[in-house]
Amino acid sequence: MASSNSTFPPPPSLSSKYSGIPDRLAAIGVESKNRLLSKSTLPESAPRHHDVPRLPPDTTRAEFNQAIGELKQILGDQNVELNDRPLVDGWYLEHPNTHDAFHIALQEDLVSSAVVYPGTVEEVQTIVRWANKHKIPVYPISMGRNIGYGGTAPRVPGSVVVDLGRRMNRILNIDAENASCLVEPGVSYFALYEEIQRQKLPLWIDTPDVGGGSVLGNAIDRGVGYTPYGDHFANHCGLEIVLPNGELLRTGMGALEGKDGADNPTWQSFQPAYGPYSDGIFSQSNFGIVVRMGMWLMPETGHQSYLITFPRDEDFPAIIEIIRPLAQQRVLGNIPQLRHVIQELATTAQPKSAFHSSSGPIPRETIRQHASSLPVGDVSWVFYGTQYGDAASISSQLNLIEKAFGVIPGAQLRLPSDLPPEHYLHSRVSVCSGVPVLRELDWLNWVPNAAHLFFSPIVPTRGRDAEAVHNIVVRLHAKYGFDLFPTLCVAGREMHYIVNIVYDRASVDEKRRAAALMREMIAETAAEGYGEYRTHVLFADMVAATYSWGDNALMRFNETIKDALDPNGILAPGRNGIWPKRFRGKGWEILGTEVEEALDGKGIGPSSS
Ligand code: ADP
Repeated sequence: MASSNSTFPPPPSLSSKYSGIPDRLAAIGVESKNRLLSKSTLPESAPRHHDVPRLPPDTTRAEFNQAIGELKQILGDQNVELNDRPLVDGWYLEHPNTHDAFHIALQEDLVSSAVVYPGTVEEVQTIVRWANKHKIPVYPISMGRNIGYGGTAPRVPGSVVVDLGRRMNRILNIDAENASCLVEPGVSYFALYEEIQRQKLPLWIDTPDVGGGSVLGNAIDRGVGYTPYGDHFANHCGLEIVLPNGELLRTGMGALEGKDGADNPTWQSFQPAYGPYSDGIFSQSNFGIVVRMGMWLMPETGHQSYLITFPRDEDFPAIIEIIRPLAQQRVLGNIPQLRHVIQELATTAQPKSAFHSSSGPIPRETIRQHASSLPVGDVSWVFYGTQYGDAASISSQLNLIEKAFGVIPGAQLRLPSDLPPEHYLHSRVSVCSGVPVLRELDWLNWVPNAAHLFFSPIVPTRGRDAEAVHNIVVRLHAKYGFDLFPTLCVAGREMHYIVNIVYDRASVDEKRRAAALMREMIAETAAEGYGEYRTHVLFADMVAATYSWGDNALMRFNETIKDALDPNGILAPGRNGIWPKRFRGKGWEILGTEVEEALDGKGIGPSSS
């Protein structure tokens, strides 16, 4: 347990550790860590209740020990670690690879049995063959910073986590002419950005809100960023994959060998190559372990970030109606975000208790009172955008945008120069021009021991659809007693309506309510025709089950592929709701209140596992 004036060891630097923080952010890292951990009321670690290490399913301790002994012999003792010590949640830059740091069930429910660190593609192949021999499930991670979606936790407790990042973190190539790179799984946005600066190349990366994630892992999980190259999977070019049987595959032009055995010269230039475009089935799936990925980089250009405030809550659908044509015409330079003013409070990094002393969600009137003393004032919705190009085109784009939104009474456009240096817009300037930062972690100070879950439905960019989803989300947040933090990433035809449920990891009651809120939001929005683009591992079955058109044709197709590629069901069983034959229909699927029940100590998975 920490006192409010504790100081913690500084986070590792990028020069000392592949997953560390660049020197330019060292002071911010220290401040962010101290602020967050000093509010923790949890002990650093708690005693474990189950026998350790947790065994993989259908494996005796003797069989497990023998299999691990074999793995150590092949890879070296130092590259195989048993998960038998107390679990430490850590924080963003020092996250665990033993479990989900943002546990929504009990901390011990989603644990691995061991973690293995391959150093080469051949070693990844060896691990996969070992897993097939012993029928032990393996769960690949790149950096493991998939926070809010399950972190490093395998869906099947007792799986062996394959932590690719620790020893496979090279930037294999940066091609300045082609504006592309080829990376291994352990290359973070921080690392790629710093290398491009070191080489003084006029290229941008595209980063998500926080820069510590894996460039490769985020793209294959179909994450997003905020420059014009913000759709990460759409901007990847070429994969190298270890299949569940240990074979190696290159997709795209990589399948055609270059001269004298070199990599194909257009591997990072042309995505589909010839025949079926196979890359898609390796995103958000459990069909292979991606060991290399090509990514396009954006030539640097001028940029201008801005925000537009809207005073009235009820103008929400009208704002969406204005965004749609602007986005379809590509007047908007990136995927803009529309946020509610409550987030202006949260991004000050102050706890909720600084604004609201009683329990329960913060009332609208209280938000109003506090917002009036913040830079944006007593407003309702805040639109964050960025325009690109030379000064003249940015200026003409901004004129168009200001005019379009000007029909909403009280809409007001502001530039970074209109706002104090600590305002959140300044961190958007960085993110929207490809500079990875840490700032987005600030709202984790909202409650003690904060964790979060994302609820991320895809909604047509239409006022009435936005309102339909918003009304469901508002009602269910009130029912379960959570503050609503909506961030809408709005494109021309659809928007990602992202809700961030922030809860206290120390409170079983809050976890139970957060899980019930997720369950009901998934079901209610699906009944209206809206589905999630991504979800936490524990809600994967529920989300996958909503995509049921044609008597579950899509899942039956996925299962056919899974069983063909992975007959022993060793690779990330259950990820994205895809269960191999060996596990299917045996009590692993979570379609009801199982997560809430796990909080009573029932565990995850069939009781016999
Ligand atoms: P991040 O990219 O944010 O650091 P992860 O490394 O945890 O996050 O990757 C996100 C998810 O994608 C993981 O939970 C894992 O299921 C999957 N994944 C990550 N890396 C690979 C990989 N190289 N091959 C296959 N699946 C992967």
